[in-house]
Parts: sequence; structure tokens; C-alpha cells
Amino acid sequence: MWARSCLDWERNIMPNTKKLIGIIGAGPAGLTAAYLLCKRGMDVVVLEADPHYVGGISRTAQYKGFHFDIGGHRFFSKAQEVEDLWTELLPNDMLERPRLSRIYYNGQYFSYPLKAFDALTKLGIIESCLCVLSYLRARLFPFRNPKNFEEWTTNQFGKRLFDIFFKTYTEKVWGMSCKDISADWAAQRIKGLSLGKAIFHALLPAKKAKRNGPVIKTLIDSFRYPRRGPGMLWEACAGRVRDMGGQILMGHTMKSLHSHGDSWQLVHQGADGQQQVLKVDEVISSAPLREVTLNLSPRPPESALEAARNLRYRDFLTVVLIARDQCLFDDNWIYIHEPGVKVGRIQNFKSWSPEMVPDPELSCYGLEYFCFEGDGLWSADDASLIALARREFASIGLCAEDKIIDGCVVRQAKAYPVYDDNYAEHVETLRRELASKYPGLHVIGRNGMHKYNNQDHAMMTAMLCVENIIAGQELYDLWQVNEDAVYHEAGKAGVENALATGLRHVPIRRQVSAV
Ligand SMILES: Cc1cc2nc3c(=O)[nH]c(=O)nc-3n(C[C@H](O)[C@H](O)[C@H](O)COP(=O)(O)OP(=O)(O)OC[C@H]3O[C@@H](n4cnc5c(N)ncnc54)[C@H](O)[C@@H]3O)c2cc1C
Repeated sequence: MWARSCLDWERNIMPNTKKLIGIIGAGPAGLTAAYLLCKRGMDVVVLEADPHYVGGISRTAQYKGFHFDIGGHRFFSKAQEVEDLWTELLPNDMLERPRLSRIYYNGQYFSYPLKAFDALTKLGIIESCLCVLSYLRARLFPFRNPKNFEEWTTNQFGKRLFDIFFKTYTEKVWGMSCKDISADWAAQRIKGLSLGKAIFHALLPAKKAKRNGPVIKTLIDSFRYPRRGPGMLWEACAGRVRDMGGQILMGHTMKSLHSHGDSWQLVHQGADGQQQVLKVDEVISSAPLREVTLNLSPRPPESALEAARNLRYRDFLTVVLIARDQCLFDDNWIYIHEPGVKVGRIQNFKSWSPEMVPDPELSCYGLEYFCFEGDGLWSADDASLIALARREFASIGLCAEDKIIDGCVVRQAKAYPVYDDNYAEHVETLRRELASKYPGLHVIGRNGMHKYNNQDHAMMTAMLCVENIIAGQELYDLWQVNEDAVYHEAGKAGVENALATGLRHVPIRRQVSAV
């Protein structure tokens, strides 16, 4: 197993030359790499564009003593190495939290994941019968080789349930038709779940999902969570990096990367606007793949620049509302499938952890709006966004407007790398170009590899990247780390394991000479 071989390396193979590694981004990927490299005796300098927070999209922002996530961040991984690293970084502050979330649609709250009895009673007998017929039709006459989200999801649930439970919310999130979204995304996010399995799970809820077994991602019913949010864990990681001598330069944005054969120069700009040059042996980047490619020298060929320009992102903002109530609902979050409002999801940060809120008489909610940088929502001023969120919160019957006493807005650019029809081709072009012409440049993480994945995936790519750097050769192909952060060795056992967990990609360990 990978965990064992990692420990063996740690004990037996120390780097024979001490290198300086430049790391772009102090999110989960960048900080994991920094922490593990420092533990292995390397020197690191991390450049982080944000002047205040580490953690990237997994940071915990603060306002007048209230703590809140960008979204809500469940800590759950099928990779034991990742779970162990979380425990190592925060041994005494990880809570085990129950998961509760519901769907709001047409004035009703539906359990999520769907529970058969709950959904049928709330939809009514006629609608329920129509849904079952539509499901049976989809099973008998499925789309062969489903190409888009609509076809994939209709195959799993039937057209009627797709319209009720997937279409509106998904189109809110992505800002495009479900016909334009790749089937990959559906397969990745709701893989393994079908109406049949949802009903089975609803009828037999007693069997608890095994932490590392072949669980269905959407059905995970508990998760770990740091007492004061994910930022607490990434602050702890940054603290350890600094304690081991690593540098983290906050408010420093990488502007361009220059390869000089066996070394690199990173041009970065500090908060004072001054540009500086950092000379390093190798670079690990978790900055968006588009930005990195467009700022590389020597300049990549036009085909690669065009591929980079075509990578798209979805942006995100949270309107945080502070209300004078002890807790309106226990859900961690509620999906808003209602077409009449723009809000996509509502977080209840007190349900994630009571310590997110400084006063037990108050609660803190995050109304999440999906947008594109520069569109009407993104550009609206904070006061208008707070007014909109207050109105919508009240209009769906959750919180009277006069209970809301304060609010603020947090914007997150490039929250989601978009999987459109051609993204895989563009990413493949860039992967080939970077691997063949830019030795010593390692791209990791979510936007770094344009992979719509969770923290554990970002961390796993960082962990394997560190192994490659320490070994001085590409032992692991980071592009083969799958969406569940699992890395399978090649061979019969690996393939069988992958089939058992329903993974679409079976990563192959590269054929390299023994170390
Ligand atoms: C709404 C939402 C909910 C989520 N929920 C979960 C969840 O429940 N569980 C989970 O595990 N994951 C969740 N995720 C995913 C998780 O946030 C990401 O997978 C993770 O943060 C990716 O880590 P990363 O280090 O690759 O990238 P990021 O978190 O994006 O960090 C990259 C860092 O690089 C910095 N940077 C970028 N460009 C530059 C530059 N030019 N110079 C210097 N610094 C730069 C950024 O400021 C940032 O700090 C969620 C994401 C979203 C959007």
C-alpha cells in the first residue's frame, strides 16, 4: 500500500541534495506539499496571493467573531493517508459531525439523500406514480453512451425526477443548460447512486457506511470537521511549516514563471505592488492551470495557449446573514431547487460546529449564489446583495426579515473548474506540453489540474508530488489520482479493487527503474 511505502521512504531515503522548492498557493494542496517537504528536510517558500487567510477555498473567513466556510467543508476521504494527515495536524480538535441536509422545492422540504416515503408523500400520489413510470421507462430505454448531464441523470433516475431534483439546482450552480454539462461531472459527483439504491438506502438505513469502504459519496452520513472550521486545520499546518523553517509569504501573487533548464525564477508581487524574483530549484503550483500556462516562459506554443484560454470557471459568493435566533433548522445546508429565487444553497454554520458562532443567542447563515466573475451578481455592491439575501431568506419562509441583524459578503473567484464538452481535451494538451517541455514544474490540486475535486484529492496530488521530487524522478503520475483521492497500484489487485469501487479510471503506476 502507498502509506507503507511512504513511511519506508521517510525512514530510508532522505534527499541527497537539499533543494529549494517554490510553492504557489497556500491552499490544501500547497500547504500539504510544504509540510511534507519540510518534514523531509527540503527548503520551501510558499507564495500566497491572499493577504490574510491560508486554506484557499478551504479557508475559514471571519466577521465580528463569526466563522464561516466558503461553502461548507466536510472532511471525509477514502484515502487513509489523508485522514491520518488531518489527525496529525489537528489531533484534538476534529469533531465527528452528523450530516443533515434537505432539498427545498415547490414550498416543500425533501430529505436529502432522497428517502422514498418522504419524497412520495410530499410529491403526492399522482406525481409519484408518474415518477416511477418515468424511471421504469429510463431503465428500459436508456440513453446509450450518455453524453451530457441530462442524459446521464435521466438514465439513473428517470426524466421526471431529473426535472424536479436535478435540473433547476444544477443549472443555477453552473449557469448553463444540463445538456451542455459533460456526463463526467454527473458520474463523478453522484456516482453509484440511482433511484433504486436511494430507495434501498431509505428502507435499510441501519447499515453505517464504512469509512474506507466503497461508499456512495452522496450518502455519507457523518464526517469530521475542525471545531472552528477548515481554516483552523490549515492555520495549524502553516504554523508547522513555519516552525520547520519554511517561509509563507502572504499577499504575494505569482505573476510569471521562467524556466532556466535546471532552475526556475518566479516573479511575484507583494501587497506593496513591488515585483520581486524568487530563484528556486523546482516549482509546485496550485494556481489555476490557465494562469500558469499563460504566464510561462519560454512561451508555450499557440495550441497550448489556446487550450489554456479555453478553460472556464464558475465563481461563487456567500452572503452571510447573522440572525437573532437560536437555530432555525438543524441542517448543515439546504439545497434550494426553487426556480423563483436566485439563492442556490443555504448553510447553517452553527450546525457545522457551535464554535462557529460567538453568541448562543445568535445564528449565522450563508446564502450561496453561483455566478460568473463580472456578471450582475458578482459586481453588485455588498448592501444590495445583503438586501437580496434577506428578501429571499424570508420569501422561502425560513427567517423573518426583522430577525436578521447584520451581514457581510465573501466572493470566491474560480470556485469550480468547469467541465464542458472540450475541457478534457484542453487539459490533456496542457498536461503533455508541461510534462515534456517544463521539467521541474509540478501542477497539483483543484484548479492547478483543473479537476473538480475535494480537499483530499488536492492533498493526495501534493503527497505524491513530494514523493516524485524526493526521488528525483516521476514515480507517480499525479493525473491518475482519481476523484476520490485513491491511488491504485497497477496489477491484478489494483484493477479488481478499482472495479469493486466502481471507479472509472484505473491509475497505472509508471514503469520506472527501482530507486
Ligand atoms: C462551495 C464549495 C464547497 C466545497 N466543499 C468541500 C467539502 O465539503 N469537502 C472537501 O474536502 N472539499 C470541498 N470543496 C473543495 C475544496 O475547497 C478544494 O478541493 C480545495 O480547497 C482545493 O485545494 P487547492 O489547494 O488545490 O486549491 P485552492 O483551495 O484553490 O487553493 C489555491 C491557493 O492558491 C492561491 N493562488 C492562486 N493563484 C495564485 C497566484 N498567482 N499567486 C499566489 N497564490 C495564488 C489562492 O489564493 C489559494 O489560496 C468545496 C469547494 C467549494 C467551492
